[in-house]
Parts: sequence; structure tokens; C-alpha cells
Amino acid sequence: MDRLNLTQTKNMLIAVADHLIDNTELLTKVDSMIGDGDHGIGMSIGAQSGKKALEELQDPPSIGSIFRTLGISMMTSMGGASGVLFGTMFISCARYDPNAQFLSPDSLANMLRISLDAVKERGKAQLGDKTMVDALEPAVLAMEATHETGFVQMLESAEIAALSGLEKTKLYPAKFGRAKSLQQRSIGYQDAGATSIWLIFQAMAQFVKQLE
Ligand code: ADP
Ligand code: MG
Repeated sequence: MDRLNLTQTKNMLIAVADHLIDNTELLTKVDSMIGDGDHGIGMSIGAQSGKKALEELQDPPSIGSIFRTLGISMMTSMGGASGVLFGTMFISCARYDPNAQFLSPDSLANMLRISLDAVKERGKAQLGDKTMVDALEPAVLAMEATHETGFVQMLESAEIAALSGLEKTKLYPAKFGRAKSLQQRSIGYQDAGATSIWLIFQAMAQFVKQLE
């Protein structure tokens, strides 16, 4: 399986939304340790709204339109820093090859590279600032290195890279968001947004595995 069609791509993003909804409690717990605890509810609201919009998108005109639909729903329903940033992440995917009818491992790697750059541009966070970037950047690098191996191996590598990036967020003091005020006291706790990024890659990896 070296490419996904429009329906499979839409179903993959619905699986991502479901996985975020299923992990509301985990995300709430993680954000409660050093943030304000709203990340789980925020992601769940965004994912529910995104899932509904995707289900209503009967005949998607392109791969990009599917990613954009999820991103716009998240951005408009969630609010807050993460609404803008996760919205930007999915909306930016649509900038790559806007009329594509199929998704290949190579195109997904390229799309998420554009997302990473857009999230960094928008939020101004760099690697090591204890944000979602700490999981997204290694995942994108892993995809770029492994896209020739196909979807399953590429997304498994990305999930592993995202998880190791997430683990590293425990070592850093926060530079953004509400956790910033805790300074050194945020060390030892993982970042909420990076946890969501890991869940997103985990859901995509699980989805392509069950297609085999
Ligand atoms: P809020 O901080 O408004 O309560 P959430 O709790 O939903 O929003 O999301 C917090 C997450 O958003 C953080 O864990 C972090 O990963 C991410 N985040 C916040 N600000 C930035 C930023 N400037 N750049 C990248 N990611 C950020
Ligand atoms: Mg929060």
C-alpha cells in the first residue's frame, strides 16, 4: 500500500479525531500538572467538531481539502493558543500540491514539513521550548528519512520519534503558555501539546497498519 485515496485519507483523519477524543482524560491530566488543565477538553472539542465536518464532507475535491476541513474546524471551535496552532498545522498541509487526489508517504512528509514551519512561524517556539514542536519536529525528520519505506514503517518511525521528543519535554523548563510562569518547576512534567502530537502520529500509524 503506497498511497491512500480520498476516502482512506478522510477516514485516517477521522481516526485521528477519535483517538484525541478517547484520550481527553490523559490530556487533561498532563495539562493539569503544569498548565491550566484545559488541553484535554480543548482538543476533544476540536476533534469532535473536526470529525463532524469530515463526515459531512461527502465528496472531498482533493487531499488538501480534507486536511483543511479538519484544521478549520479545530481552529474555529477550540480557541486559545492550541486552537490556532493545531488548526494551523492541519490547514498548512493543504498548501502542498493543493489538487492532489492521492496521499503518498512522500507527500505526507512534505505536508507535515510545511505544517512544522508554519507552527514555528506562528508560535515562535523552537525545539527545546517544551511545546508541541518538540514532538512534531522529530516526527517530521523521521518521516523525511523513511518515506521510501512506505506508510506503515514511515508512520511507525514518526510515532517513535514523536514519543521520544515528548519524553524529552520533561527535561525542559517551559518557555511558552501557562506553564512558563512555573519556570524550573515545570521540569519533570511532559508538555500537553507534544502529547497530542504523539497521539496524532499514533492514530495515523494504527490506521495504516490495519489497512494492510
Ligand atoms: P492554553 O495554553 O491556552 O491553555 P492548551 O492547554 O490547549 O492551551 O495548549 C497548551 C499547549 O499548546 C502547550 O502544551 C504547547 O504544546 C502548545 N503551545 C502553547 N503555546 C505555544 C507556542 N507559542 N508554540 C508552540 N506550541 C505552543
Ligand atoms: Mg491549557
